[in-house]
Amino acid sequence: MSAVAQIIDNSVEADTQDLTDGFHLVIDALKLNGIDTIYGVPGIPITDLGRMAQAEGIRVISFRHEQNAGNAAAIAGFLTKKPGICLTVSAPGFLNGLTALANATTNCFPMILISGSSEREIVDLQQGDYEEMDQLAIAKPLCKAAFRVLHAADIGIGVARAIRAAVSGRPGGVYLDLPAKLFSQVMDADAGAKSLVKVIDPAPAQLPAPAAVKRALDLLKDAKRPLIVLGKGAAYAQADDEIRDLVEKSGIPFLPMSMAKGLLPDTHPQSAGAARSLVLKDADVVVLIGARLNWLLSHGKGKTWGEPGSKKFIQIDIEPREMDSNVEIAAPLVGDIGSCVSALLEGVSAGDWPAPPAEWVSTVNSRKEANIAKMAPRLLKNSTPMDFHSALGALRTIIKERPETILVNEGANTLDLARGIIDMYQPRKRLDVGTWGVMGIGMGFAIAAAVETGKPVLAVEGDSAFGFSGMEVETVCRYNLPVCVVVFNNNGIYRGTDSDPHGRDPGTTVFVKDSRYDKMMEAFGGVGVNVTTPHELSRAVNAALDSGRPTLINAVIDPEAGSESGNIGSLNPQSVVKKK
Ligand code: ADP
Ligand code: MG
Repeated sequence: MSAVAQIIDNSVEADTQDLTDGFHLVIDALKLNGIDTIYGVPGIPITDLGRMAQAEGIRVISFRHEQNAGNAAAIAGFLTKKPGICLTVSAPGFLNGLTALANATTNCFPMILISGSSEREIVDLQQGDYEEMDQLAIAKPLCKAAFRVLHAADIGIGVARAIRAAVSGRPGGVYLDLPAKLFSQVMDADAGAKSLVKVIDPAPAQLPAPAAVKRALDLLKDAKRPLIVLGKGAAYAQADDEIRDLVEKSGIPFLPMSMAKGLLPDTHPQSAGAARSLVLKDADVVVLIGARLNWLLSHGKGKTWGEPGSKKFIQIDIEPREMDSNVEIAAPLVGDIGSCVSALLEGVSAGDWPAPPAEWVSTVNSRKEANIAKMAPRLLKNSTPMDFHSALGALRTIIKERPETILVNEGANTLDLARGIIDMYQPRKRLDVGTWGVMGIGMGFAIAAAVETGKPVLAVEGDSAFGFSGMEVETVCRYNLPVCVVVFNNNGIYRGTDSDPHGRDPGTTVFVKDSRYDKMMEAFGGVGVNVTTPHELSRAVNAALDSGRPTLINAVIDPEAGSESGNIGSLNPQSVVKKK
């Protein structure tokens, strides 16, 4: 009997004991593949799917907006190497989730957006169904793969394909379209169980070719000023021990990208974090481990990288087409990070491996020490109102004392300065705006981090950034999660000092002056605190992390502090026309 023929029309009355349906098959397929949590927003046609999933023991975290649920799923994928699942309704709910799916794909986070959809026959004839939209077509260009399941008997295969697509090779976002009618399709329970697929080895190891390893080792061995750059791919790979061994056995200075901070502690003697400009400019051989030469690394060229042609790149990446995307890669090492790093480690552990020239190491160290000394006094000021440095100085100490805390961070100045000031000590503890530099990830990331790891979460948010997902403080309270949100409130976007030259409206970048974001958390039964000094900030954060209670701290920052677009003001186009 063909799979399609096995489906029994649900209008037929039958003994339900021996039957299953689309709802249950989706849930069984997810469970069979070890998926234990779904992030989403209920509504037609997936409300019952959420209820039933919860009844079947899956954890279902309901959000207030799909974009936040999607961001939660994406970061769950990053933290666990299993695809994070986001469940939404059709058309608008799907579109809201799609932003997160596109962002997950851009960041190489494995995620599956599952959306209910309207009746395909009506959608395709454009006859005006409830929430009509050709969701599959819209999702396709924005994710790694997109599938639609029309028959209950194909749910097992559909879910399996989605999982494999999300986590194998370069991880990314996958869209799974489930039309409303599918959920109530009925089929024989035995046949249903047999139709499910357990994905074996979903992200197979990909070993680099021996010749490619030799090419990389030969280049690295001759380097006078070697550098290792760790990206969030390295954090994702969970090859923490191999990476630490490679760095320590080779003695090469390393530079972590934002979300790779903590893979080795930022206080590690070989960390070149505080000498970033120097090492990028002066290194002669750069080993990129799970880091792309995109805008965040100035595309591997220009002033940041010193004299043209002054360096050679060794790049480790699972995606072959990443090689030469911006500049020539002298030694491409295509494979999974665990396997590639282990292969390099073997070469580096051999007896005759040279330590990097002492002159290079000491140049890096003295620049680093000078920069750290220059920054230190700014972090210690107990000023009122606080500026970014004094407030972040307080949070820096807290993370040092509580290194297991997961730090979520978004904003402009709040992001750029926190990235530099707050040292991280453990892998995958810093979650931020990623490749797009997108605002709005805050509460979604914070919620999933707490749910997936059970660890305390500290979300350090610009007041503007917080606004994109702020309503989810209700979700934080509802699930009673150990999340402490600190809103750096400087009355506006970048700073709180803009004005309308006509005096008619508020300036385009300012918010209500002296807002009390802490009251939002109180509204839902959490703890709200208003602080104006670094001491008060410290006290409030420590109390929140001790109690594990949902807390929002409104940290009053000088509206004059902060610069336009933080560190990336240069990306703003400038008008040359001056109007009188
Ligand atoms: P960052 O922004 O921190 O520099 P990117 O997101 O630019 O990091 O780069 C991450 C890279 O890591 C991507 O090119 C991705 O293909 C790669 N990657 C992700 N997971 C793995 C893995 N397990 N093995 C190898 N490469 C990986
Ligand atoms: Mg602000």
